[in-house]
Amino acid sequence: MSNSAVSEQVHSIPNSPLSPRPFSFLDLKAQFAEIKDEVLAAVHGVLESQHFILGPEVEQLEAEIAKLVNSRFAIACASGSDALLLALMALGIDTDDEIVTTPFTFGATAGAIARLKAKPVFVDIDPATYNLDAKKVEAVITARTRAIMPVHLFGLAADMDEVAEIASRHQLPIVEDAAQSIAARYKGRSVGSLGTLACFSFFPSKNLGGAGDGGLITTDDPELAARLRILRVHGCPTKYKYEILGLNSRLDALQAAILRVKLRHLQSWTNARQRNAERYRQLFTESGLTNHVVLPSQPAGWDHVYNQFVIRVEQRDLLRDYLRRLGIPTEIYYPFPLHTEPAFAYLGYKQGDFPEAEVACRRTLALPIYPELKAHHQAAMVNAIHDFFALQH
Ligand SMILES: *Cc1c(COP(=O)(O)O)cnc(C)c1O
Repeated sequence: MSNSAVSEQVHSIPNSPLSPRPFSFLDLKAQFAEIKDEVLAAVHGVLESQHFILGPEVEQLEAEIAKLVNSRFAIACASGSDALLLALMALGIDTDDEIVTTPFTFGATAGAIARLKAKPVFVDIDPATYNLDAKKVEAVITARTRAIMPVHLFGLAADMDEVAEIASRHQLPIVEDAAQSIAARYKGRSVGSLGTLACFSFFPSKNLGGAGDGGLITTDDPELAARLRILRVHGCPTKYKYEILGLNSRLDALQAAILRVKLRHLQSWTNARQRNAERYRQLFTESGLTNHVVLPSQPAGWDHVYNQFVIRVEQRDLLRDYLRRLGIPTEIYYPFPLHTEPAFAYLGYKQGDFPEAEVACRRTLALPIYPELKAHHQAAMVNAIHDFFALQH
């Protein structure tokens, strides 16, 4: 059947705005129901203390996350975007410095670089993992290169052995964007301990999400840790002593208290995400869909934590439209590669510069994968995708 005939059939399925969505893309209410009493007790404790910014809850969260990712220091801040910015500031990144990163990521990765008047230098992604293709990094290194910033996208670590090898050859620090990958592992080691600095986000949709914005940086370097603690409080080592130019980027005690409750559940939620991913794999395989659907790659020895379960299909937009009409939710991460976005136009890149990232933007589709997702939701998803492809024969 031709594309336009399939399109016609898809569009003949009536929209049913009045029927309830059978399930949602992410169900944070289901998670809250499970931990409500613990969260309310933690919030109550902070309100009783009336200590709202930094303080003991934040220090304990920092210690617990440092332990989780096997890093010496952890410094909490106001968001994942600020974590990236503060990490680059701690390294002394400045005007015209070049930082190598990927164009297939959330805008904050390159945004943090650009905000310091430094230059994001993109390299294309590996189409199997969607992460920066380490083999392409060496070719873009210049005398102005100051750091490499890989992103562990969707919950899967970038190929850090290769990145580390190039970084050490050129004596460059590595800043991990680990916003989507807390608790992910790479060849037995934790994401967050694989570079010079690593940045995490507690945005509500991340695997460890707060009740608002939050972020954190890990490092083994005591000097960088000390500088980060100063940078997040206006550059002041002590009150009103402006040692360096900093910003106000602190984590609230309320966020830290809630995150500490959630941290106790992170392992079981991660296990549930991994179980759901396995179930999708099984369902797609049993339905004979693996000719049409490229499943997320999961290299042996890399522990994927599935912040997103991202498939690749030729007719992504048509499939998404079809699923939406059935009330089945999906998302696109990300519809546009950063190098063609207006905010980064001044870098001078053009369409075609990073073909793998561009293809990924056109063909990838994220399916619900949250811990509380039910097996019957996953079956409904895979059945619907099966029906979509059956329409074409
Ligand atoms: C979420 C995210 C960020 C930014 O984190 P915020 O806490 O939302 O500021 C940065 N990089 C990546 C890859 C992300 O997914």
